[in-house]
Amino acid sequence: MICWTCRKDRPRSDFYASVLLRAGRGRRSIYCKSCQARFSKAGREFYRRKALEKYGGKCQCCGEQTEEFLTFDHIGGRRSGAGKNAETSLALYYRLYYEGNDPNIRILCYNCNCSLGSRGYCPHQAELLGPAIAAKVQQK
Ligand SMILES: [Zn+2]
Ligand SMILES: [Zn+2]
Ligand SMILES: [Zn+2]
Repeated sequence: MICWTCRKDRPRSDFYASVLLRAGRGRRSIYCKSCQARFSKAGREFYRRKALEKYGGKCQCCGEQTEEFLTFDHIGGRRSGAGKNAETSLALYYRLYYEGNDPNIRILCYNCNCSLGSRGYCPHQAELLGPAIAAKVQQK
């Protein structure tokens, strides 16, 4: 079985029973025991923070720096093919921490991310994006 975090092929005994059960139901997030230990809550925060730092630690739209508000945005949408090729957030932090510099990833705060995701623009960028968007924003 492939661990979603370290991507190594490991024997079933390297996975907790609950994880195997989840995998059997076709759910994602399959972590081997050693990865699960590494991603205890503290570890998860650690890797998330480090990954944020790699990308400047602030929203690339409005400059928000409060860690709790920040999220990683996949430019042009999440990796295609949900399911098998989808990347879990843990795997993403891990990858950004060790490899970094994925040009398809940027940091946005939840506000900007939501607006961009649902409307295709952020009010912060109204001026940059030209009159059409600015007019839309002002209509509100
Ligand atoms: Zn693993
Ligand atoms: Zn923002
Ligand atoms: Zn914004």
